[in-house]
Amino acid sequence: MTERMDPRGLEALRAAAEHGQEFYAGLDERHVGVTASYDELKRRFAEALSDRGHDPVQVVEELVQGADGGILGSGGGRFFGWVIGGTVPAALAADWLVSAWDQVGAIYATSPVSAVLEEIAAGWLRELLDIPAGASCAMVTGCQMAHFTALAAARTRLLGARGIDVQKQGLAGAPPIRVLTGAHRHESLLRAIRFLGIGTDHVEILPLGPDGGIELSALEAALDSSDRPTIVSLIAGDLNTGRRDPFGPVCDLAHARGAWVHVDGAFGLWIKASPALRHHLDGCERADSWATDGHKWLNVPYDVGYAFVRDAEAHRRAMTMRASYFIDADGAGRDPMDWNPEWSRRPRGIVTWAALRSLGRDGVANIVESCCRLADRLVQEIGALDGAEVVAPAGMNQGLVRFLDPAPTPDHDGYTDRVIDALQAEGTAWFGGATWNGQRVMRISVSNHRTTDEDVDRTVDAVRRALRLRTP
Ligand SMILES: *Cc1c(COP(=O)(O)O)cnc(C)c1O
Repeated sequence: MTERMDPRGLEALRAAAEHGQEFYAGLDERHVGVTASYDELKRRFAEALSDRGHDPVQVVEELVQGADGGILGSGGGRFFGWVIGGTVPAALAADWLVSAWDQVGAIYATSPVSAVLEEIAAGWLRELLDIPAGASCAMVTGCQMAHFTALAAARTRLLGARGIDVQKQGLAGAPPIRVLTGAHRHESLLRAIRFLGIGTDHVEILPLGPDGGIELSALEAALDSSDRPTIVSLIAGDLNTGRRDPFGPVCDLAHARGAWVHVDGAFGLWIKASPALRHHLDGCERADSWATDGHKWLNVPYDVGYAFVRDAEAHRRAMTMRASYFIDADGAGRDPMDWNPEWSRRPRGIVTWAALRSLGRDGVANIVESCCRLADRLVQEIGALDGAEVVAPAGMNQGLVRFLDPAPTPDHDGYTDRVIDALQAEGTAWFGGATWNGQRVMRISVSNHRTTDEDVDRTVDAVRRALRLRTP
C-alpha cells in the first residue's frame, strides 16, 4: 500500500463488502417489497451538493442507511415479479472484483483478461444454448441491446443482399425492411426496431395459433405477400405464459424466402441448458440470431445480455470500429468493440465466466429445472385456493392466476389488483399484475436459484392469508 492510499478509503471498501454480505445473506428474511416512500427516500438524501467532500466510510454508511426500505428484494427467493433473476455467489464476487479492477472492456489492449474470458465464456454459452459453433457473440447490457445488435447485423446482411452498404449509405434509398412477429412479442423488440430506423410501422403482428405460437399459415401468407427484405422475430418463452414459436417450421418457411430469423430468448433460451427440457426449443438452433440475458436465468448481477449471430461477418461489419489510438489485437485476442455497440464498457465476460465455472452444466440445468418445477407448484397451488383460479398453467417458469371477487356484483379485475397490492404490502412474497387476454392477472415468474420448496409453501400461505383478509 502506498502512502497515497487513504486508509479511510480501504476501510470504506471493507465496510461495503461487509454490508454487501450481510444484505446478500439476509435477503430471504427481509420484507420483499419496498417500505420507504419516494418522499422519505428523497428526504434522506436531500442535502445540497457540498463544497467539501466527506469521509468515504461516512459516505458508505449514509448510503446503506439511506437505502433502507428503498431496495426491492428482487434478488431473493420469494420475488416472482417481472422476470428477474438473482445472483449466484461466484458471479457476485466476480462482479465486485470487476469493479475493483476497473477494467475497460473495449478492446483487448484495454483489458486482456476481460477479452479472453469473454471469448471463453462465449464458447461455453454457445455449447449450453445450442448455438452454432461459428456464430459470433456480443456481450451487451441486456436483451434490449442484444436485439439491437443482432438486428443491426440482420439489416446489414438483408440490405447487403440488395447491393446496399447500409454502413455507408444508411437507410435512405434502401427498400424498407419489414419485421414479422407474433402478438406475444416483447416491447424491447419494437424499441430496437425504432433505434435501427426500421420503424414500427413496418412491423406486422401475426396471429397466434392454439399453442400460443405464430400461426404458420398466416406467416406463409405474409412472407409471400411481399419481396421486401424481411426479419421474422420469434420468441423462446413469452413473459406471461412461457409459450414459444414453432421454430423449425418457421425457419423452413422463412429461409426458403431469404428472410432472417431472430429469436428473443431473454430467459427462455436457457431451457436449452436442460437435457430434460430442451426439446421444447427444438429447431431454435436453426435461427440466424439469438438474443438472451445473463442477468435473468443465469443469475449473474445486472447488466449482462448476449447477442449471437450466425453470419459473423455481417455482425462484425455492423459493429466494428477502428481509431488511430487503438492497439490492434491482430488475431492475438479478440476486440469486443468489433462486436459490441458500446465503446468504453464494463467487461461482462468475467461474471459470465464465474457463474458458468461455479455452476457447471449441471448447475445451470438445475436452476432451470427447479425454477420450472417451482413455477408449476406456485401456479397450481395458488390457483387451487378458495377465490383463485389458474389463467395460464406454467409454461417453463412463467404462469398466470387471478382472484375472484366474492362481492354480489363481482369486479374480478379490481379484486385481483387489490390482492396483488395486499401481497406486496405484506412482504412475504412479491408478484406483479398484468392485463392478459383482456383480464387482469397476477404473473408468476420463477427465475432465481434461491427459490426453494419452502419459499413456495410460505408464499402460498401468504396468498391464502391475503384472500381470507379480503373475503368478508
Ligand atoms: C426481459 C425481457 C427482454 C428485455 O431484456 P433486458 O435484459 O431487460 O434488456 C426482452 N424479451 C423478453 C422476453 C424478456 O423477458
